[in-house]
Amino acid sequence: MEAEDLKAELTCPICMDLFREPRRLPCGHVYCRVCLQDMLTRKYLNTRACERVLSCPECRQRYDLTFEAAGVDVFPRDFKLVRLVELCQKSFGRHGDDDGGAEAGADDETAVSALDFHRVGC
Ligand SMILES: [Zn+2]
Ligand SMILES: [Zn+2]
Repeated sequence: MEAEDLKAELTCPICMDLFREPRRLPCGHVYCRVCLQDMLTRKYLNTRACERVLSCPECRQRYDLTFEAAGVDVFPRDFKLVRLVELCQKSFGRHGDDDGGAEAGADDETAVSALDFHRVGC
């Protein structure tokens, strides 16, 4: 089925979701910006040294971003893919699960006062 093929092409191999702000690495592989950022951050935490090296999950090509202030933003945006993802979302629609735009304020105040707990005396 064509539609499924298209969707597969627009799916990030890291998060298995449609690309969000796709960035194209020089090796030709494309990932979401957040996924690259995530990888870089994790790597960064693991190495402890101040080197920031990203390795492409698919071909293992390594990119040294240590001296790139822009981080993963040095990789160009793939505008064509952005457009395709939009079209894809429009034509397939999203069933049910909306990931609600505004994630503002968690208003459930779970500040259950510890005082109530302590008043166990009789
Ligand atoms: Zn992703
Ligand atoms: Zn690659």
